[in-house]
Amino acid sequence: MSHLSPLLVQSSGICAERGEGSWLYDEQGNRWLDFTSGIGVTSTGHCHPKVVAATQAQVAKLVHAQYATVTHPSMLTLTDRLYEHLPKGLDAIAFSNSGSESVEAAIRLARQASGRTNLIAFRGGFHGRTLAAASLTTSTSKVRTGWQPLMAGVSIAPFPHAYRYGQDMDQCVTDCLNELDHIFITECNPADTAAMIIEPVQGEYGYYPASIAFMKGLRERCDKYGILLIADEIQAGFGRTGKFWSHEHFAVQPDMIITAKGLASGYPLSAIAASKEIMAQGYPGSQGGTYGANAVACAAALATLDVIEKEQLVSRADALGQQLLTHLQGLQKQHDCIDEIRGMGLMLGLEIVSAPHTPDGERAGKLLKHCESNGMLMLRCGTHGQVVRWLPPLTVSEAEIEQAVALFDTALKET
Ligand code: PMP
Repeated sequence: MSHLSPLLVQSSGICAERGEGSWLYDEQGNRWLDFTSGIGVTSTGHCHPKVVAATQAQVAKLVHAQYATVTHPSMLTLTDRLYEHLPKGLDAIAFSNSGSESVEAAIRLARQASGRTNLIAFRGGFHGRTLAAASLTTSTSKVRTGWQPLMAGVSIAPFPHAYRYGQDMDQCVTDCLNELDHIFITECNPADTAAMIIEPVQGEYGYYPASIAFMKGLRERCDKYGILLIADEIQAGFGRTGKFWSHEHFAVQPDMIITAKGLASGYPLSAIAASKEIMAQGYPGSQGGTYGANAVACAAALATLDVIEKEQLVSRADALGQQLLTHLQGLQKQHDCIDEIRGMGLMLGLEIVSAPHTPDGERAGKLLKHCESNGMLMLRCGTHGQVVRWLPPLTVSEAEIEQAVALFDTALKET
């Protein structure tokens, strides 16, 4: 009998004993093609030999040295290596252990640096389960329900979900930016606003990319009012969308970047990056935590960067994402239940419907169960659980993509 809390809901019946590349294995030797990557975490595949070797070597040398007392080479080297991938001017990095913690860190820094209180987040955004992060999250009520009041000072502005509003993107962006300006007049004085936080490609709400015009509109307003623009790159960053950072698709530069998930191939590590000027305006000692920048996690992140660079995983995500998209478009032509395909690179979502614009979470659930019974693990998201997400490791092979599409095609035919 398991004593696991029933609050930790499992979507599959799989108990994975080991993982290798794109595959998960149970103790009986059954295997599943893992197109979840632990929710976008194991981008280098399960147990990449270089990550295994680097972490084993680190464990034998040093596991934990608290950064507030001493630094260690893996942490210092990691800041240099990350800096090479950061936009110009973002030259200071602070580590924590999880996405939510780094969202809190970014919010804390934004308020401390600006001396302002208000925050703007976007409808459908997911930023985590801790108090500040949940207060910014509107992709689901699950993380907000039952422990109100959440943090005060947050306004929620619309995100250009053109599909959801049945609009073309240009009109949707115009309406969203107009509504944001209205929010500035009615509820959130821009002079009291510290930051806007956005997922440039929304994850949990259903894989909605922003647009260049929308992101430029945000950047212009941030510049005009002295508001910090924070990009939550926790799910879409680190190569997942075919660029190193997902905001690069939209030709704007944020003032702060938050990263986690793909950063360390499964070891708990997250980070915020900002300019030294902004970082210096925070309160010393207010970032990090006991385990922040753990030596083994930093070694895993260094090996992850080696793999990303040597195996050219960012351009691979772009090329293989195109290939996957073409396959999924082929499925869409044959199956009316796929209403829209959204996302970028190897972060793609299928909107499953019972009729146009009528989300069908039940069908999506059946599709996933069918896939699981036939050797493939997938996730779904969206308000009704209607979006089937394709999140393979960035090391996935063309053959594995073809195998996954064939399995999903069968599921579509047989459910
Ligand atoms: N932001 C985004 C965009 C995420 O996708 C997630 C996790 N799904 C988080 C924040 C929270 O990260 P964590 O679960 O590591 O706290």
